[in-house]
Amino acid sequence: MSRIILHVDMDSFYASIEKRENSNLEYQPVIVVQGPKEGRSVVAACSYEARKYGVISGMPLQTAKKLCPDATYKDANHDLYEETSSRIMDILRKHTDKFEKVSIDEAYLDVTSRVNNYKEAEKMSRKIKHIIKRKEKLTSSIGIAPNKTIAKIASANQKPDGITIVTPEKAKIFLNPLPVEKLPGVGKKTAQELRKLGIKTILDIIEKPKVILVERFGKNGVWIWNIANGIDETPVEESEDVKSISREITLEEDTNNWMIIYKVLNPIIVDVHRRTESENLLFRTIGITLTFEDFHKITRSKTLQKHTSSNQIIQENVRQLLKEFQQEPKKIRHVGVRLSNLKPKEVAEPSLDKYI
Ligand SMILES: [Mg+2]
Repeated sequence: MSRIILHVDMDSFYASIEKRENSNLEYQPVIVVQGPKEGRSVVAACSYEARKYGVISGMPLQTAKKLCPDATYKDANHDLYEETSSRIMDILRKHTDKFEKVSIDEAYLDVTSRVNNYKEAEKMSRKIKHIIKRKEKLTSSIGIAPNKTIAKIASANQKPDGITIVTPEKAKIFLNPLPVEKLPGVGKKTAQELRKLGIKTILDIIEKPKVILVERFGKNGVWIWNIANGIDETPVEESEDVKSISREITLEEDTNNWMIIYKVLNPIIVDVHRRTESENLLFRTIGITLTFEDFHKITRSKTLQKHTSSNQIIQENVRQLLKEFQQEPKKIRHVGVRLSNLKPKEVAEPSLDKYI
């Protein structure tokens, strides 16, 4: 049976939250900045007004300042964004039994068992948008489609504050004229390679025999050909990886002075620990991320025998995991800590002696 899937995506999430917090920023270009110091900071998010000047996420702050010197620049306030996100995810979860958080401001909802048709799915989407708007004063965009890929492309189709419905009958009309870059998983490089085969649009893909894409891209070619044809069976399910609490930071300057690195890590550890406490969670896996000066990135993790809530255990394991890299001559640029394998703390069981 055909599914009905919603992809809900908040509109310029961080920048919209900053606007909500400061009413005088309405209609103004707002740029949220990530990073410790002028020279190394990047744009974490920008409002639609700032995008008109050519500012995009991931751009160095200095470039953004040249393009849009009059914007309001705000340091990223991750605690505020996380708190807002978790309230929004709670609203979304209530509308489905199959839910998948994709990122801080994006989720899939399989609503097949909750609605009878696309009309009802549209009604539900309006309601969801309305609730988020009323409770959080933020707008979102929703794509409604028979699978995740089309729903994701659809949610971006009428941003901000839009709803785009792509029924199975309309899927081809919707997909065919789009440039290949719109397909999730087709980055700049793949798009370039596709162009060499004379492929620019999704229609160009489906007019080629599948075998040509498979020969050129292997397994990825199968995926590209399938999604171009509107075929995507991946289920909506919360992945283990997303069920984690993490925090990362770019160092003020690249260093291999481990005293400094540990000093930076301490508040991060305190923060991820505090978040497990506030959400009443236990964790079993502790992970680290390191990015070196040449942008080479590594991750390591340790899974414990049993779940815990101990800050001390995070400290010890982070140190243990980092040991491997302490002789590394390359300097470190970025560090992060991640807790995963989470489960809710159980309510303390009444002690047995009460009953005997
Ligand atoms: Mg978004």
